[in-house]
Amino acid sequence: MLGSDLQGGASREAGLYVHVPFCSSVCPYCDFAVTQAGESRRARWERGLFDEAAMYGDRGFDFDTVYFGGGTPSALKIDRLARVLEGVRQGLRINPEAQVFIEVNPEDVGPDSVRHWRDLGFSNVSVGVQALDDVSLRFLGRRHTAEEARRSVEALLGAGFDTVSLDLIFGLPGQTRSDWEGQLVEAIRLGANHVSCYQLTFHDGTIFGKRRDAGMMIEMAEAPQADLYALTHEILGAAGFEGYEVSNFALPGHRSAHNLKYWTGAPYLGLGPGAHSFDGVHTRWWNRRKVRLWQRDLDNGSLPVEGEESLTKRQRAFETLMLGMRTADGVDLAELEKRFGAEVIAQNTDSLQSLEAEGLIRRRGDRIAPTPQGMAVADALVKAIRIDGA
Ligand code: SF4
Repeated sequence: MLGSDLQGGASREAGLYVHVPFCSSVCPYCDFAVTQAGESRRARWERGLFDEAAMYGDRGFDFDTVYFGGGTPSALKIDRLARVLEGVRQGLRINPEAQVFIEVNPEDVGPDSVRHWRDLGFSNVSVGVQALDDVSLRFLGRRHTAEEARRSVEALLGAGFDTVSLDLIFGLPGQTRSDWEGQLVEAIRLGANHVSCYQLTFHDGTIFGKRRDAGMMIEMAEAPQADLYALTHEILGAAGFEGYEVSNFALPGHRSAHNLKYWTGAPYLGLGPGAHSFDGVHTRWWNRRKVRLWQRDLDNGSLPVEGEESLTKRQRAFETLMLGMRTADGVDLAELEKRFGAEVIAQNTDSLQSLEAEGLIRRRGDRIAPTPQGMAVADALVKAIRIDGA
């Protein structure tokens, strides 16, 4: 059967991801599984989610984080959001103490919505601010203004969410160091305790990707991108933020418990179109991306799984290394050897020494971790380390 059970070896609690595939408009850089749809399609999605959650009810998952992402979860009417949250709570085994996350867009944040989200039990919120000046926001095709973004962050902080995270995008064509520094300083001034910084990418098939292909837009070159990334670590680091993952910066106590599951090999279950899942041992699977096809499978009584793969020991060892080298905690190579029967430490004596000498990694015993400079080239770091024997 497609869609794995949680295997006995995965003793850790899992993360639940609920994909809300609806947006009021589609941003020109976005390559997520999103669509614009009215209330009747949203109602069908809601019913589909209940069906999908029920199908996983006896698969052995225990969840201690729940994450509503999208798309735009904050654009769901509050009664629909309440029913979906209640539905997954009833259909799945969710720890009553679970941290519950929601992604929101600034234009949806107001006194009523904030109060409702808190009342429903959302503890952590991630705001799709993307930029804190109107010129950048217009370029990115966002529907909110910088002033709305500021007010939304202040309202969310005032409502007592455990963590208020800001999403920001850097590397806009022509963006200067001082432009980007201004955004970061403003995010700090607003009081956010978590900041996610993503490099603008022109994905194929998006409006920006098409404009690039037509010669109408040029992506920022690698060197200035790297310079802005280094500046991010510098500015946020000076304000007490730890760059704990390539794109994520947190004040102490505000790392994302949900996203850490993806980076540390914990099990997670994704519900909704395009959502991905992992059993925490060796099997991962992903849902149909188109809402219509996802819905059709559920209507036919089957899981809407589009594909599934079982990882070999070698792939799991490589993935553990790859994900770990994107985080400040890095990877314990002795543990990697033990878990996967791999040979790493003796094979890489020289390369580890030179990576350390170049300032790209830090070593503490058998644990290696990327420095901020290393995070900027995390993929290349992994390629420099050989895994044998797994
Ligand atoms: S709001 Fe977010 S998910 Fe929706 S289209 Fe824009 S970037 Fe994509």
